[in-house]
Amino acid sequence: MFEELVARRCVCSHAITVLLLDAGEQLCTIAFFDGESTSDSYDERVRECPACGERLGLHRLLPRSSPEG
Ligand SMILES: [Zn+2]
Repeated sequence: MFEELVARRCVCSHAITVLLLDAGEQLCTIAFFDGESTSDSYDERVRECPACGERLGLHRLLPRSSPEG
């Protein structure tokens, strides 16, 4: 069982925490959590960005550490 937390950011800059769960074989589950500590839904599981409503996808999120111009 593999588990990893990845800090990402929505295109609107809202912080999103991505939980990657790999139970082996080809099973891999991705869950998104609100990573913005000031947000009402902080630490809750979300499917869309709480800020802009954008549907979340791992490939659509930006690395949180990377400066966004
Ligand atoms: Zn957003």
